Amino acid sequence: MENGAAQPVIVAIDGPSGTGKSSTSKAVAAQLGLSYLDTGAQYRAITWWMVTNGIDIDDPTAIAAVAGKPEIVSGTDPENPTITVDGTDVAGPIRSQEVTSKVSAVSAVPEVRARITELQRSLATSAEKGIVVEGRDIGTTVLPDADLKVFLTASPEARAARRSGELKSTDVQATREALIKRDAADSSRKTSPLAKADDAVEVDTTELTLAQVIECVVTLVEEKRAGK
Ligand code: C5P
Repeated sequence: MENGAAQPVIVAIDGPSGTGKSSTSKAVAAQLGLSYLDTGAQYRAITWWMVTNGIDIDDPTAIAAVAGKPEIVSGTDPENPTITVDGTDVAGPIRSQEVTSKVSAVSAVPEVRARITELQRSLATSAEKGIVVEGRDIGTTVLPDADLKVFLTASPEARAARRSGELKSTDVQATREALIKRDAADSSRKTSPLAKADDAVEVDTTELTLAQVIECVVTLVEEKRAGK
């Protein structure tokens, strides 16, 4: 049900890599006229800054000491999401293999999480029509009062195949191993690990097309809105 006068709706979409979080979240936001926030891009951006500035990624104290320095700005238009660090567009560089292999270590540092969580909350509460926020700890920690929480899953094989496709890599096995390693690090860290909130709706996307996942989440949002 489309309701132009609807109150802002906050949607949290969590799950491991390769479950279709980004594609789904962007499309749902665009379809419903909501803002969109890719929180993984923010963690990648701060990691990019650490790498660029020669900070030792294996030293959490060194990371914590400078966690407040970079200015990270996220553009929340789902048709054109942007990310800058100190005014530099980093949308490309944050997807490098180097950043991908280091982001879990940086994002496990509590001072980094506190900084980025504050940014996320401020963007979410200022979104006029509402927002779809995707990540790992959105439903559990960042926005525990979200109107709708969705937790996307998929088999490791499906996730590796999708990621390989995105990266245009033929080595599905290597992609699978890197992905499993990153998920294990993200799930086992002490501060707000990757986890399903008790009140999240779990959607297994293994056998679904992207269009089906989008439709499923749009329906869930519309049901929530109708019940408000
Ligand atoms: O979603 P994406 O794969 O771009 O996320 C990159 C990394 O950022 C994750 O592997 C995780 O270490 C971190 N992350 C996080 N919390 C979030 C979103 C991402 O720790 N809410």
